[in-house]
Parts: sequence; C-alpha cells; structure tokens
Amino acid sequence: MVEKIILASPRGFCLGVTRAVEIVNKALDKHNGSVYVRHKIVHNEKVVNDLEDKGAVFVESLSEIPNDAVAILSAHGAPPEVETKAKAREKYYNATCPLVKKIHNQAIKFEQEGYSIIIIGKQGHQEVIGTMGYANMQVISSVEEAANIEVEHPDKIAYLTQTTLSMDDTAGIVGKLKERFPGIEHSKKGDICKATQNRQSAVKELAKLCDYIIVVGSTTSSNSKRLAETAMKSGVGRTSLVPDKTYLNDITLANTNILGITSGASVPEVLVNDVINYVQKNFGNPSVETLEYVIENTNYVLPKELR
Ligand code: SF4
Repeated sequence: MVEKIILASPRGFCLGVTRAVEIVNKALDKHNGSVYVRHKIVHNEKVVNDLEDKGAVFVESLSEIPNDAVAILSAHGAPPEVETKAKAREKYYNATCPLVKKIHNQAIKFEQEGYSIIIIGKQGHQEVIGTMGYANMQVISSVEEAANIEVEHPDKIAYLTQTTLSMDDTAGIVGKLKERFPGIEHSKKGDICKATQNRQSAVKELAKLCDYIIVVGSTTSSNSKRLAETAMKSGVGRTSLVPDKTYLNDITLANTNILGITSGASVPEVLVNDVINYVQKNFGNPSVETLEYVIENTNYVLPKELR
C-alpha cells in the first residue's frame, strides 16, 4: 500500500508550451475550428490528437496551408524566411515562445558584433533549425565535438543553447568550450530558460523523499527520459517512465511507502491526474502533497487578437 504521493513542482508543460497550446485553442474558437499549425505544437500524441479532434491540422511546411486559412507557427520558432512568409498571410498567429525569440535576437546581436557562434543542441531539432536561420553558427551536441570544433574567431566566440536542454545537460560541453576558449560569451542571464533545469532540480529534491518515482512521459521524449535518468542518478533505484496510466499495469508498487510523481515538458496535467487516480484507487488511497522546488511565475502574454 502506498502511504503518500508527492508531486514535483514544477512539472509538465513549460510556459512556452502552455502559451502555444492556448493560442491554438483560442484560434480554433475564434475561427470556427479551422486552423493549420506548422509543426506539431508539442511532442505529445494526446495533446496533438485532442487539438486535431477540435479541427487543427498539423503540417510540416507553410506551403501546405491554403492561402485563406489560419496559419500558426509552433512554440519552437522558425527561421526568419518562414516567419516573413507567415506574416505576409492574412490570418497568422505566432506561437513561438518569447524566450526562443530572445535567443533569435541574441544570435543576431552576436553576429552583428562579429562573434563566431556555437549552438549547443540537437542537429535537426525544430528549435535549432529556427535559431540557425538568424545567424551563422555551428551546432554541437557532445563534449567530443566541443573538443574538436574549429571557429573563425577563437578570441571572439559566443555560445547559445537549445532551451529544452538544462544547465546540467550542457555542463560538460560548456566546460570543454570554456577550457578551449576562456573568454567565450553566453546569452544574458535573463534570457536563459530554466524550465528544463527546474524540472530536473525538482525531481532531484523529490528523490530524497521517495522510494519510487513515476515520470509521466513518452518513452520517445528525450526530455522525459532525462527526467527519469535524473531520478535514478539521484538515488531512487525504482523509477518508471510511463506514457499514461495504462502502463501502470506493468509495474509493481509493492513495498512503496512514498511515491513521487513528475512529468516531462510535453505532458498535459490530465495524464498526471489519471496516474494519481489510478494509484489512489488501486494502492490504498494515499494522500497527495506537492513539493514546490520553485514557482515559475512569468506569464507570457497571448497575441492581442486572442486575448
Ligand atoms: S524557451 Fe523554455 S519556456 Fe520557452 S518553449 Fe523552450 S523550454 Fe519552454
């Protein structure tokens, strides 16, 4: 029997994803259930399926969107030529996360000031593709690449990071870059997204209190997998990554007194609530409390047409 459930906070959607999903929902309301979204708004099937059920159509390119239809750019951001084309349309909303926009602006500034730019991230990730459109830069994703990268201006160099990587995720790469290029610059402090770091730091604190941790998230989501790895490394040997409550049939909570629950950045809260209800129903109706690591109180405003 489980005695207590402790929920990590923050968990789940970051503010940028929350805003993007809200933009799609409000645009669906405003435009009679007919909008097109360039790229999956968030890498979670439930969220995408729910929006599709309401009428949203997800496409990979603006050219797939009829001229008179409503176009929305996803939270990950897009290269400038895509934004320019989208803006020229009659009906368009930009759901790019404001913090990703700040990184675009920072890239432009670094380039104007003559820096060689490196972005730490995953080649081919939508956010990295978008940011790389704003300035010349090279992408690296490992310490080995940091050890070998050659730049045009080794004495004037700056790096940016993909926002879905935490400071822990990039620490080794940043360490290697600083070792090779001691004067390397980075974005201003206020422009760094802490959403992923906050979720990982919260699960580390949670790990101190629990004897089992469930991470709600897709097994194909690198963000959710990293959360589960962080829990494991923090000393909770028993950690499971479950996409939704149906996967709980496969795990045993025997000998679990205190169960910790968190969720990946693309996971809607409804899936967490389903897991809580399942555990309460089947494992002795444990109480639920929240471990608040930090309060994320920035509120990103919606486009004025949708407020
Ligand atoms: S910058 Fe941060 S808040 Fe914005 S989408 Fe990326 S992870 Fe989310």
